Amino acid sequence: MIPVTKPYFPSREKLDKYIDGIYERQWLTNNGQLVQELTKRLEDYLGVENLLLVSNGTLALQIAYRALGVSDAAPSAQPEAITTPFTFIATASSLKWDGVQPVFADIDPNTWCLNPDNIEAAITPNTRAIVPVHVFGNACDVEAIEAIAQKYKLKVIYDASHAFGVKYKGESLLKHGDAATLSFHATKLFHTGEGGAIIFKHKEELERAKKMINFGITGPECIEELGINAKMNELQAAMGLCVLDEIEANLNARHTIWERYARELAGLVQLQKRSDDLSYNAAYFPIVFKSEQEVVRVADLLKDNGILARRYFFPSLEIVEFLDQKEMQPYSKNIASRILCLPIYAALEKSEQEGIINVIKSHMRLE
Ligand SMILES: *Cc1c(COP(=O)(O)O)cnc(C)c1O
Repeated sequence: MIPVTKPYFPSREKLDKYIDGIYERQWLTNNGQLVQELTKRLEDYLGVENLLLVSNGTLALQIAYRALGVSDAAPSAQPEAITTPFTFIATASSLKWDGVQPVFADIDPNTWCLNPDNIEAAITPNTRAIVPVHVFGNACDVEAIEAIAQKYKLKVIYDASHAFGVKYKGESLLKHGDAATLSFHATKLFHTGEGGAIIFKHKEELERAKKMINFGITGPECIEELGINAKMNELQAAMGLCVLDEIEANLNARHTIWERYARELAGLVQLQKRSDDLSYNAAYFPIVFKSEQEVVRVADLLKDNGILARRYFFPSLEIVEFLDQKEMQPYSKNIASRILCLPIYAALEKSEQEGIINVIKSHMRLE
């Protein structure tokens, strides 16, 4: 089976060298040398400051909510955050888990990111934050969202799990918002096996979060505030350093694949409308068909040919019961029902990709 994505495996020799170092230092976690090194190298590579490594992308979101005061241990009124239903479950479930009610607003039918007009309409006296997603690495309308946040005094936490390395107007997209979070899960473009990061706008919040990821402990006999365990360890950082060393080759391979899909499928299916002034990281290749029937048919056809394309993000998250939503967001529901993500990863062979394209084209000719 050709999977929709495959983890990137960096040079084994290099990884062994890093592991030798871990054995020599006899240091496995608690802000070790490799975690510190990866923090610096990621800040340089991404062009950001105030980056905090954590153990996964979901905890990155939760720590960001806490550090910014969106979720409190004992909230007075039920806090709410406005977010998108067109995303991976963790964006919304992490809010709910932390006692914040996710309130969905609808996406733009072309960019598939939150439409700022719908955000404003969903604000209530209990709204504390906006949690938009740069879905598939596309940029949200960061200027409009910033203006709304200022007007209503809301925090903005971008789930930027898909936006590793993306530049907007020549600068890192991750600089927008009070915080932006990344996932370094094995299947992501850049990964540490499991892992994640938060990029804070302000140093004070970074410092607060640093305490929070280590149980609130600040000294041998000092526990300053409520915390949890969200630390990255040295083995994760070793993997990350190796993957980062080879990121250019990884990106080049993905871009070649991305561009071949775009060339061959343009006009046959709907592609995501990307913001101007935006670089892309070729992390995903989503296509939208005319109907749900068609997407099911093509996914089955691909499967018959040994290719596993995935319907994500489907379903639109309003139907998840524990999220307590009353209504569907029409555009999110509509796009979610017709979308398919095609296989894209550095090790995907040209002949394999041509096979995928041929299956889709032969289906289109039959229509
Ligand atoms: C992968 C992902 C997450 C969760 O990250 P983990 O590292 O798996 O916890 C959250 N949001 C989005 C949009 C993701 O794609």
